[in-house]
Amino acid sequence: MQKTMTCPRCNGKGKIKDYRSYLGGVCFRCNGTGIVAYRKASNKTKAPDPSIEIENNRRFQRAMEIYSSDTRLRVPKGHPYFYAHCRELALLDGVWEKL
Ligand SMILES: [Zn+2]
Repeated sequence: MQKTMTCPRCNGKGKIKDYRSYLGGVCFRCNGTGIVAYRKASNKTKAPDPSIEIENNRRFQRAMEIYSSDTRLRVPKGHPYFYAHCRELALLDGVWEKL
């Protein structure tokens, strides 16, 4: 079942006073229902989440274990592209294929 929430545009009233001259002021966000479908923030973007793939990728996991404290890393742990930098180091060292 889809989660719903009070329409943030009309605050659940279904109408917007300032727009009453246009279509009777019906809120265009919720179509006058006062309720809109609730979406999780993560669903807003259509870009694939790389962390899902990485979680299931043994090589990335191994690379991050090995290089998490490597002084050559240019990004801190927790950086969105931390995994990519660990992979880069593994490739530089020629161990990526053996991970
Ligand atoms: Zn509304």
